[in-house]
Amino acid sequence: MTTSREWQLVRRPRGWPTPDDFTLAEVEVAEPGPGQLLVRNLVMSVDPYMRGRMNDAESYAAPYQLGQAMYGGAVGRVEQSRVDGVAEGTIVRHGLGWREWAVVPGRQAEVVDPDADGVPASAYLGVLGMPGLTAWVGVFDIAEVRPGETLFVSAAAGAVGSIAGQLAKRAGLRVVGSAGTPEKVALLEELGYDAAFDYHAGDVTEQLAAAAPEGIDCYFDNVGGDHLRAALASMNPFGRIAACGMIAAYNETLPGPDNLFFIVGKKLTVRGFIVSDHAHREPVFRRHVSALLRDGSLRFEETHRQGIDAALEALLDVLHGGRHKGKMVVDLA
Ligand code: NDP
Repeated sequence: MTTSREWQLVRRPRGWPTPDDFTLAEVEVAEPGPGQLLVRNLVMSVDPYMRGRMNDAESYAAPYQLGQAMYGGAVGRVEQSRVDGVAEGTIVRHGLGWREWAVVPGRQAEVVDPDADGVPASAYLGVLGMPGLTAWVGVFDIAEVRPGETLFVSAAAGAVGSIAGQLAKRAGLRVVGSAGTPEKVALLEELGYDAAFDYHAGDVTEQLAAAAPEGIDCYFDNVGGDHLRAALASMNPFGRIAACGMIAAYNETLPGPDNLFFIVGKKLTVRGFIVSDHAHREPVFRRHVSALLRDGSLRFEETHRQGIDAALEALLDVLHGGRHKGKMVVDLA
């Protein structure tokens, strides 16, 4: 009998989540039945969308249930297999993170091959995973960027933003990014951003206008709030906004931007998207991004925390900002 530790939601947070809303429980792991895999998780993901799952509200992502394990992206090693064609030792990506061991239905496990791809297992949760696909779809399919244009990316040093800016740069755009610490701004410069600023260092609208004196044509919005206001003010006519996330408002109620009329006057396109609707783009994304990784023209940054005990704090740090660069992951084995 294997025991496993898992994070459970015990109370729905109001506003900012606190450690009292969660518990780290020890449970016995069932034997895998026919068609199932017993997986030892090697690494798990913490992502901003998980905050939405803590609310009992209708959304594109189903709510976590009180007193039950939370879940999310993970990569693990198959320790026992009752699935034809999947051998013990195979590495799989699946959706039962937030726990050390998981019994995974075979049809919900995707075989990955870090050695063949020349990446760590964690890359399937970041650059080659959901955040990478989000960046790629947002840049090419939603913002429909064109060479010579200027793109502004907010939360630019995070999992999605750090890839989005690099992809746009490689596609011939001028790229401007904002982030919350001087270290993150330095990272943006290393990643090839043409201009970057610390949004804590002054008014966002003024800093963006200074960083993009000829205006911006596209905005990859990860933040909403004051960043959306700044982007609307700097937008050139017929500009496009890829509305990816609004993390500034996930834990508190904020007033909306006071300059929405620019959408009309500047004839802007604002397009929200959810990455799961774009799964059919995965093969093209994988080919493109894998090629960029192989020839060294795309860099991916990761912040690793150690052990299941550290997972909750890792998620809270992602929500609060300032503590990680690139994709935040938690190593479990
Ligand atoms: P990140 O790795 O970028 O982490 C989130 C970052 O957001 C924090 O580190 C912080 O960066 C920044 N942030 C938090 N609060 C604020 C604030 N008030 N103002 C400005 N910045 C803030 O996360 P991801 O890359 O995983 O996600 C980025 C965004 O993309 C999120 O909004 C997420 O919900 C969204 N998303 C949307 C998807 C979709 O399908 N539409 C799929 C995946 C992600 P800093 O330290 O710089 O302040």
